[in-house]
Amino acid sequence: ERLVAAGADDIERAAEAALRPRSLEDFVGQRVVRDQLSLVLHAALGRGTPPDHVLLSGPPGLGKTTLAMIIANELGTSLRVTSGPAIQHAGDLAAVLSSLEEGEVLFIDEIHRLARPAEELLYVAMEDFRVDVVVGKGAGASAIPLSLPPFTVVGATTRAGLLPAPLRDRFGFTGHLDFYAADELERVVTRSAHLLGAPLDADAARELASRSRGTPRIANRLLRRVRDWAQVRGDGSMDLRAARAALEVYEVDALGLDRLDRAVLTSLCTRFNGGPVGLSTLAVTVGEETETVETVAEPYLVREGLMGRTPRGRVATPAAWAHLGLEPPAPAGT
Ligand code: ADP
Repeated sequence: ERLVAAGADDIERAAEAALRPRSLEDFVGQRVVRDQLSLVLHAALGRGTPPDHVLLSGPPGLGKTTLAMIIANELGTSLRVTSGPAIQHAGDLAAVLSSLEEGEVLFIDEIHRLARPAEELLYVAMEDFRVDVVVGKGAGASAIPLSLPPFTVVGATTRAGLLPAPLRDRFGFTGHLDFYAADELERVVTRSAHLLGAPLDADAARELASRSRGTPRIANRLLRRVRDWAQVRGDGSMDLRAARAALEVYEVDALGLDRLDRAVLTSLCTRFNGGPVGLSTLAVTVGEETETVETVAEPYLVREGLMGRTPRGRVATPAAWAHLGLEPPAPAGT
């Protein structure tokens, strides 16, 4: 697993649980979404009814699950958790829905990956608080409507555009989470370091923030590696020296690029003279699947202005040459 991957496995999720903010107040950054959600929640609390369904969109590791937990907390209710891929059949979803208690929050992660029949069942449930339980098979099958107590769905998706319109329209509120600014990530790691009982000094916090790809999950992960380094090879101080040394061990560079990102850029510059070159050709030269390069390395390289996409293929930008310490080729005709 890459240290700078934005996704998390179960072990990491367990390590993260201790670091999750529990109230909107403690949730760092995302001011717009936080303000809007705060209004939605307070209005619902004032009326004594569950709020509208909430859709949270944005890249992995930015706080969608955390916000779902906070929503349930702030409403003083419990959270039920499932995900698009975990629901194999519409019947699985019907079972979850029919066991919900009044006012509960149902969190559906990766909601864009729900199978079609489950999706259809869900939007009826969201709109009319009803599931149709199908009994019997074939021509003799009939649907028995079962009414549900009011509840709130919080859906999370990496791309709201992937949701079919009828489902998207059932959400009364959509919040889009964006990458975090460096000062926000500084607050995230400083807060986390306190919770871990290993306070970080300000320079170290700044260093981690600038290498975390705008993503709190990555910032917290790098923080844990710095803590390891400080404990095993350092004198326990969580300072700039420990931060730099730990990130060097894990080959995370000053921009937060790891070995794969750098291999892609280096190949683009040195083998293809800066491009343009097709992504699959580029992937072969670094010994990776095209999909890995496309979903893991490219988005960040493009966002950081190191790689450009053109109709004829990927190109290295002047910033890429500079970052690698290489001389760009002279423009043609000079
Ligand atoms: P997502 O569901 O979008 O993949 P998570 O909610 O699981 O992301 O967040 C990943 C980690 O980052 C968690 O440990 C969480 O505590 C931390 N985190 C995310 N957003 C924030 C934030 N705004 N403030 C503090 N910590 C955050």
